[in-house]
Amino acid sequence: MLSNLAVRDIETLVHPYTNLATHRQNGPLVLESGKGVYVYDSAGKEYIEGMAGLWCTALGYSNQELIETAYEQMKKLPFTHIFGGRSHDPAIELAEKLKEIAPVPISKVFYGASGSDANDTQVKIVWYMNNALGRPQKKKIISRLKGYHGVTVASASLTGLPNNHIDFDLPLPGIMHTSCPHHYRFAEPGESEQDYSSRLAAELEEMILREGPDTVAAFIAEPVMGAGGAITPPEGYFEKINAVLAKYDILFISDEVITGFGRTGKMFGTETYGMNADTISLAKQITSAYFPLSAVMMNEKVYEVLVDQSRKIGTFGHGNTYAGHPVGCAVAVKTLEIYQREKIVDHVNKVAPAFLRRLDKLAEHPLVGEARGVGLIGGAELVKDKQTKASFEAKNGVAAKAVAYALEEGFITRAMGDRLAFCPPLVISEAEIEEMFNRCERALDKTL
Ligand code: PLP
Repeated sequence: MLSNLAVRDIETLVHPYTNLATHRQNGPLVLESGKGVYVYDSAGKEYIEGMAGLWCTALGYSNQELIETAYEQMKKLPFTHIFGGRSHDPAIELAEKLKEIAPVPISKVFYGASGSDANDTQVKIVWYMNNALGRPQKKKIISRLKGYHGVTVASASLTGLPNNHIDFDLPLPGIMHTSCPHHYRFAEPGESEQDYSSRLAAELEEMILREGPDTVAAFIAEPVMGAGGAITPPEGYFEKINAVLAKYDILFISDEVITGFGRTGKMFGTETYGMNADTISLAKQITSAYFPLSAVMMNEKVYEVLVDQSRKIGTFGHGNTYAGHPVGCAVAVKTLEIYQREKIVDHVNKVAPAFLRRLDKLAEHPLVGEARGVGLIGGAELVKDKQTKASFEAKNGVAAKAVAYALEEGFITRAMGDRLAFCPPLVISEAEIEEMFNRCERALDKTL
């Protein structure tokens, strides 16, 4: 029996990333409040938010400091744009802090409002830059199958998932995808992680040579693949990718929209995996999701080209109204202050062993083929046969079934194909981690 709110939802909303047909029967989960790592629905039922919202509520719910910071900034200056040389204190302070903690040398910061628009900016900068450098043929961008980079026309093209392309007439020409680096699923029998990484790097090099190195401008990757299945890279992967990109003068874009700010056990995933990134996309945990904000951090080499182009043609014609929103920037400054004061990275490293131990234990479950993670992010792949790794047919919906049972048990997770994701708020305690996995195991027992 659907609640009154659920009925009104069905009558009025088109939900993002939702099966719109089944939603008409099932209705929504209506959440009402949250505290710490818990959220509560409109009937008062408690859930552990095992996805930190959408990989973003790092400091959990009801953080009074963030709420007060937003309130104070709204009272003082709820809005100013930063077009045409206008600026404000929180935008400047945030950029300074980001430069200070960046995992690679960063020269400047460009703001947006979502992870998607940050990656759109990345694409436009790559194109603009190569025109400015007098090499208009060097425009192709290589992404990866199962990579996730957003939903705008360009960022959805970078995304390597079928549902983001089918019937949307995407990807755009000039954006191509190399293999997904998932050792469990795609390595040859007996192939070591290092050998598998070498094979993937060789495949990338072949793609570059086939296309022509003078036509390939950039490569984009998430340190840990998120929406593609919470997939950690195999050993040696980024080291080998770095070498290929350097050889052909290809820009490396690190998409840290979910891995930024402590998720992988270092402040940035770029650092965890030694990625030689030229530019980095940030969003989500930059404000612990208390306000929509994104940022592109770029090195001096990229910035210099942009400035030089302004000397020639004038205005850098890109940026949206809410770029550098003062409330978002103030909340982000406070968020970073809390991460540093509360030593969030140390906390992640303190509780990660419990998280990873429970993931290992989950891999013993008859339904789970692989469970693997880093820091406080992990994925578990549900399989029909653990020996052969035979997967459930995509339409079988086993992961969706597990997600529904998890909800019954008071645990929010997310199905990505046949994989379940684990990405709790970074402030989660060891006891809460144990409880989260207890609830997950009960849900999987019901799914069997
Ligand atoms: N990049 C990555 C790695 C993401 O995980 C996401 C969203 O989950 C995005 C980009 C897009 O961000 P948004 O949904 O804020 O547009």
